[in-house]
Amino acid sequence: MPANEKIGFIGLGIMGTPMSRHLLNAGYPVTVWNRTAARMKPLVDAGAAAGTSPADVARKSTVTITMVGDSQDVEAVIAGKNGAIEGATAGSVVVDMSTISPVTSRALARRLAEKGVQLLDAPVTGGSAGAQAATLSILVGGEKAAFDRCLPIFQKLGKAITLVGPSGSGHTAKLANQILVAGCMSGVAEALVFARKAGLDLGTWYEAVKNGAGASWHLTTQAPRVLDGDFSAGYMVKHHRKDLRLIQETAHELGVPLPVASAVLQLYRSLQATGGDELGHQALVRVYEQLAKVEARR
Ligand code: NAP
Repeated sequence: MPANEKIGFIGLGIMGTPMSRHLLNAGYPVTVWNRTAARMKPLVDAGAAAGTSPADVARKSTVTITMVGDSQDVEAVIAGKNGAIEGATAGSVVVDMSTISPVTSRALARRLAEKGVQLLDAPVTGGSAGAQAATLSILVGGEKAAFDRCLPIFQKLGKAITLVGPSGSGHTAKLANQILVAGCMSGVAEALVFARKAGLDLGTWYEAVKNGAGASWHLTTQAPRVLDGDFSAGYMVKHHRKDLRLIQETAHELGVPLPVASAVLQLYRSLQATGGDELGHQALVRVYEQLAKVEARR
């Protein structure tokens, strides 16, 4: 039986569903809430309690986790009407594992602190596969005491778990990671389209380079999906587009030029304009394909 924590889980999407299930399987009492109520059923069937609102979840929990979308979505479930802040009791912890703005996160941390509630920002990387396999990397910002308290919970969700600094630092670290993702995903897309246009057999090319100096997680997980024409979502275009927008906002404040991340954001915007926002982010290759008038398939 895990330590004496009662867990609340808000947001049962691609990531939240397997993550909340791991906590349930680990023996924690878990209360779930999702805006679209039907998404709660598989968890409730597996033994979770159904909350009636984020406030209700927080009232019943000592550690309340949010895994939703953008900054305004986290604001809504924490500080909006019937938000977690209304139910959270002093001494409890809220852990936001979504990827959002560090500025928004620090503001929410201050509001929760007025009630004696600590906020940890704890965004993750490792994709939907990492959420399913409980191998996520978790980048945490906040107080060390709250981090130590939540560590056993994080260990049920991920492998590399790091307190990177004070409140907001987890999100900043995650945004820097998303610059890596932009570079890797665009590199894979650009290379595939170039190789196809040059007349190479892409299956042969992939096998030849997959263990070389150009290899990456994106090459080995996303290139095979592109070659098979699989554009289903593990990590949606709209979420990477959101992350790149947050990166731009932060870079603007810092005065940091980001030529590659900026270009990739524009490519995602063209996918958004053509209805591709809910495809997997590997669909970035489609923009390159349209520009080069070629399809990068086997
Ligand atoms: P998703 O499948 O789109 O799920 C989003 C969840 O948030 C859904 O349960 C949705 O509820 C809920 N939600 C969104 N806005 C809300 C609002 N205003 N009020 C209440 N609930 C709201 O997204 P995901 O892939 O699980 O990603 C969740 C977060 O993790 C995002 O911040 C994303 O950037 C980050 N992330 C994703 C991945 C990945 O590979 N997928 C990896 C790392 C980090 P409904 O069911 O009602 O729509």
